Amino acid sequence: MAQKILIDLEKFRSPEGKSCDISPPEGICGPSVGSNGLKSIRELAVFHFTCRRCSEAPCIDVCPADALEKDDQGIISRSTNLCISCKSCVVICPFGTMMTDFFEYHRDKENYYDLSDEKELDLWIRNSPEGAVTRVEMEEDPEQHIYQLNEHILVRERMWKTDQL
Ligand code: SF4
Ligand code: SF4
Repeated sequence: MAQKILIDLEKFRSPEGKSCDISPPEGICGPSVGSNGLKSIRELAVFHFTCRRCSEAPCIDVCPADALEKDDQGIISRSTNLCISCKSCVVICPFGTMMTDFFEYHRDKENYYDLSDEKELDLWIRNSPEGAVTRVEMEEDPEQHIYQLNEHILVRERMWKTDQL
C-alpha cells in the first residue's frame, strides 16, 4: 500500500500544539491540488472538513477583497493572490473555522515545507506538535474520523455533517 501523510487537525489545535516555540509549520500543496496558487494543506483540510459550509457564508460577504468563493459543494476556497490578510473572515466566522495563522505565513517561505521532498517532510514532522503529522499506510476511515484530502494526504478531523450536504 502506498505511503501517505496523515495530518491530525485536532493535534494542531491542541494547547500543546499552540505552545510550540516555533510558528505552526505548514506543508504546501502544489497547483494540482489548489487551482489558486500554493495552499497550505491545513487550510485546504479545514475548508474541506471543518468548515460548516454556511449557506449564506458570512466569511464571503465580509471579505473586502473578494478573495473567498464557494464551489458547488459548498467548499470555500481562498485566492492567495487576492487575499490581503485582513482576517475579517476569521473574526466573523461563527464556528472558529479559520485560524489567523493561515494568513500570517502564506508569504513566509520559511514556514512551508515541500512534502514531495522527504527531508522537508521529516522537518515538518519534527517541527509539528507531537503526532500531528505522521507517515501511514492506510486508507480513508471515516469511523476513525480519517478522510482523504488527496491521493497522498489523509486528514483526521471531527467532521461536521448535515443531510443537506
Ligand atoms: S483575510 Fe483574506 S480572505 Fe479573509 S476577509 Fe481578509 S482578504 Fe478576505
Ligand atoms: S463562516 Fe466559517 S463555517 Fe461558515 S462558510 Fe465561512 S468559514 Fe465556513
